[in-house]
Amino acid sequence: MQLISLVIPIYNEEQNVELIYQAIIQVFKNLQDKYQYEIIFIDDGSQDQSSHEIKKIYQQDYKVKFLQLSRNFGKEIALTAGLHYTQGDAVIMIDADLQHPPELIPEFLQKWHDGADIVIGIRKKNKGEGWTKKIGSFFFYKIMNQIGRNKITPRATDYRLLDQKVVREFKKFTERDRMTRGLIDWLGFDKDYVYFTANERKFGKATYSFPKLIKLALSSFVTYSLFPLKLAGYLGTFIVITSGLLGLYIIIVQYIISPQSMVFSYVAQLAVLNIFLIGVVLSCLGLIALYVGCIHKEIMNRPLYILKDKQGFKE
Ligand code: UDP
Ligand code: MG
Repeated sequence: MQLISLVIPIYNEEQNVELIYQAIIQVFKNLQDKYQYEIIFIDDGSQDQSSHEIKKIYQQDYKVKFLQLSRNFGKEIALTAGLHYTQGDAVIMIDADLQHPPELIPEFLQKWHDGADIVIGIRKKNKGEGWTKKIGSFFFYKIMNQIGRNKITPRATDYRLLDQKVVREFKKFTERDRMTRGLIDWLGFDKDYVYFTANERKFGKATYSFPKLIKLALSSFVTYSLFPLKLAGYLGTFIVITSGLLGLYIIIVQYIISPQSMVFSYVAQLAVLNIFLIGVVLSCLGLIALYVGCIHKEIMNRPLYILKDKQGFKE
């Protein structure tokens, strides 16, 4: 029988722990003859009674496992910690607030059986989602897909099933600043999708506050592309060329064609010279971006390649 690991990050979800646990048990009751499962709760430094709630369940059910982080590290890290400790043939990451409907787990498993290595939950619509979040996510995906090296699917969530071999590769990532979704997308493999409508969260409020989301978005921009730095370079090059031409024009007119009269004031000449030099500085920034890019890539220390399959080799 195959083992399915469920990874559930918990941050101040005291009222949801029991609910999500019950919902998952319910789902697996119908899958009993096909799958075994383990549930890994990761307490991401909750300040409420969440860890107490998890321990209660853990004591009654040997299938439940519990990781507690020493403080709040954020969902991305909590998920990573959970993934590191999974043993299943497949792993399902699911939010604790019941916004990711557990009823869809059989559908994820089906798609996995049909050959997908990664099954991604795509959110159709978010009930009770504020307009700031809507606009924010719209622009986030627009910008990301413009500047990023690899495309990310809009509305793709962390509600995902990963085959064991994907998890094995995921564990090799060493970068600190991370967005779990983005890393998984980077890995490649065969993907399939499950569509769902996100419910309103059951209890508590979303801890992924707006500032936290902005921080996540910014760090995705920075870790996925050097576009902001390169932009300075492009701007610099543009300024150098235009002010250079203007300067040339001034030199020709002022000092060659009519040296006797004052066509351009000294202030104007100085201003053009100044702008030219600013352009030089900016384009040097762009140049630095190229070096930083190299360093960044080395530091991230990503695997050089990911094997999808391997045949005929001894282990
Ligand atoms: N979460 C976490 N650490 C955090 C923030 C959130 O582990 O610092 C967990 C949270 O308990 C939940 C999931 O991540 O299980 C999604 O969080 P939330 O509902 O706040 O985010 P949203 O639904 O807005 O994406
Ligand atoms: Mg939520």
